[in-house]
Amino acid sequence: MIQKITNGELNENCYILTRDKNCIVIDPGYAYEEIIKYTNKNNLTILAVLLTHGHFDHSKNGFELQKLGIPVYIHKEDADKLYTDNNLSNLVDANFDYYNADYLIDEGKLCIGDFTFDVIHTPGHSKGSVSFIYENNIFCGDTLFENGYGRYDFYDGNYFDIMKSVKHLLKYKKDGYKFFYGH
Ligand SMILES: [Zn+2]
Ligand SMILES: [Zn+2]
Repeated sequence: MIQKITNGELNENCYILTRDKNCIVIDPGYAYEEIIKYTNKNNLTILAVLLTHGHFDHSKNGFELQKLGIPVYIHKEDADKLYTDNNLSNLVDANFDYYNADYLIDEGKLCIGDFTFDVIHTPGHSKGSVSFIYENNIFCGDTLFENGYGRYDFYDGNYFDIMKSVKHLLKYKKDGYKFFYGH
């Protein structure tokens, strides 16, 4: 079961993945209250917060969830965005609470409870952008969208990298994987 909660001024998509009575939150964004409402209503335990990248519109409420004791995961090359203005919050949201991730991840298998993910590094929108593959679903953050690809003009973005990442992701599309976009 995958629940989408669109939130915030930038219409960021938060996803809640459920297995039995456990769940994983991908990119909480500004959806803290909706996440708590949903997990309470369905009696779910949140095992982890996974971030596709560190930009504030995706990472903001990781702070509140971490305060509840839920570990936060991010790629090592985006880790600094949680505790610096590199998350771009200075452009829009002056109230971003800085925090540190609990786990820095890299490409490869990631097992949390009964959930197994394949993490693929898909840089270009940011240096530490990743896509999470879960069963035949791909959570690709801001790298790829329904009709296009993400911005590559931020300080650690790169056109060549995002083209390579998009090409990589499109192979999965051909293979019938379902895509879940960051906006
Ligand atoms: Zn972004
Ligand atoms: Zn975004």
